[in-house]
Amino acid sequence: MKRFYQMVEASNRRFPDGVEPFQMATRLLEECGEIASEINLWENSGIKRQKHGDPKKENIANEIRQAMVELVKIACYYHVENELEQSIEKSINQSKLEGLID
Ligand SMILES: [Mg+2]
Repeated sequence: MKRFYQMVEASNRRFPDGVEPFQMATRLLEECGEIASEINLWENSGIKRQKHGDPKKENIANEIRQAMVELVKIACYYHVENELEQSIEKSINQSKLEGLID
């Protein structure tokens, strides 16, 4: 999570006027749309490959990272970093209790 917080801090410094909740939500949806576009390319749906060529791991990974940063920005905006980490820990512990992971 530390690296995400660092990316959030850097982004907020680079774009200080874009830190309002609806702006973050809009960017999150935009990034989700770009992930959907990458999935379209990976699944060879429509004419995407003819237009853009073969899918690249780096591109879909970048879009996923951008969406994740926007989610963490929202968590930081509402100061729920501790609650987010507790929620992640609780989910992992529950999965361990259920024997789903080690
Ligand atoms: Mg993007």
